[in-house]
Formats: sequence, C-alpha cells, structure tokens
Amino acid sequence: MTDFVFSPPVPPSVAVSGSKARLPVRRIFCVGRNYAAHAREMGRDPDREPPFFFTKPADAVVDDGAIIAYPPLTKNLHHEGELVVAIGQGGDNIAAEDALSHVWGYAIGNDLTRRDLQFAARELGRPWDWGKAFDNSAVCGPVHPCRQSGHIARGAIRTLVNGEIRQEADLSDMIWSVPEIIAILSTAVSLRPGDLIYTGTPAGVGPLVPGDRCTVEIQGLGTLTTTIAGQG
Ligand code: MN
Repeated sequence: MTDFVFSPPVPPSVAVSGSKARLPVRRIFCVGRNYAAHAREMGRDPDREPPFFFTKPADAVVDDGAIIAYPPLTKNLHHEGELVVAIGQGGDNIAAEDALSHVWGYAIGNDLTRRDLQFAARELGRPWDWGKAFDNSAVCGPVHPCRQSGHIARGAIRTLVNGEIRQEADLSDMIWSVPEIIAILSTAVSLRPGDLIYTGTPAGVGPLVPGDRCTVEIQGLGTLTTTIAGQG
C-alpha cells in the first residue's frame, strides 16, 4: 500500500437511483454548444463547428437537493440544465456503434457557469476554467443505471427557476448524439469508468440569484433541484 504523506481525500461521487451505493467520479467532461438555439444565443453559428469540450474538477459535483453558496468572483451565475452520461466501461477510439455499451447510466445535470468570467476569458482568448470549473459547479442528480432503464435519445428537458420555465427542449434536439459524443471524446482522451459527460444545454440559459430554487427535469429521470443560499 502506498504510504501517503497525508490521507488522500475521499473520492468524489454521485448518487445512484434506487441504491445506497454511489458512483465514484473520475473526470468531468462537458460539451459546448450542443443545441443549435443555444449556440445562436451565445453568438455562434451552430452549423459549422464540430463539438468541443471543456472540463470541471471531479470534486465539483453536488447532489440533488443541495443548498450552495453564491460562488465568488461572479455577478452573473447561470444555470445550464443538461443530460449527463456516466461511463461504466472505458475505451479509446470507441466506435459510435459501440458507444452505448460503454454507458453505465444517465443523470440530470446543471452545468453552473460564471457567465461573466466565461465571456471575459473568451474575448481575451484565455481558458474557460474560471467561468466553468469552480467549486460546486457540477450539480448532478442520481444516476439511473441503463441496465434497468435503458438508453435515452429523446424526451423533454426543462429548467425552471422558482417554478418558472427558463429552458425547454427535447434531447433529440442535440446536434451531436450521445454515441457521437462518446466516439469523438474518446479520440482525444482515454475514457474510464466514472467519467461523467455533460452533453450540453438548450437555449434559455439565464441568471440565478441568492434565494433562487433551480430545478432541471428530464423525462424519465425525474428532477434535480438546487437552491442558491440567500444573503445574510
Ligand atoms: Mn453546459
């Protein structure tokens, strides 16, 4: 056994639907602009750009029902409701036709974003990390094992803030499907069990302020609720 100079942290993990066991998280990959209407609202042409990826730290995961503090440095925290894919079997250069056999399950995610920092970085040609990869930025609900609930290619996805609908689309609106995302991502990195892939958000992203209650719903996966702590 390795003799560490201090105790390693407990591995980050996410809940599993219908189980007390948790899914250990290895890495978090996120797809940028995977819905045409969202690409347009970000000022980009959805038709000419191949998918691109950014990452978040594994320990940025937050469970359903959490109350999180409004994050530092930002004045424009945004919600991004997304389908999350959990990888159960790793691989490199995975063929799209085989990609679903690498999936362990699906969850609802909220890719919390410090939009002002993301846009400032974008304009300066700097990395997105401070806009995307901050503490508590990867909200993730319970993973539904696909051996029980099958694979998901369509179904309504909605984000509500204090009960008001902000984002509404269908998973079939994704520019790049889950098998295509896994195939393309696995040409760039080795995927391993516990990798999470946030598959992109539909149009309608917008601000969260202290006291807000944000709920993301995906047909067949239930709901994911996050509360931004109030001031004082
Ligand atoms: Mn996103």
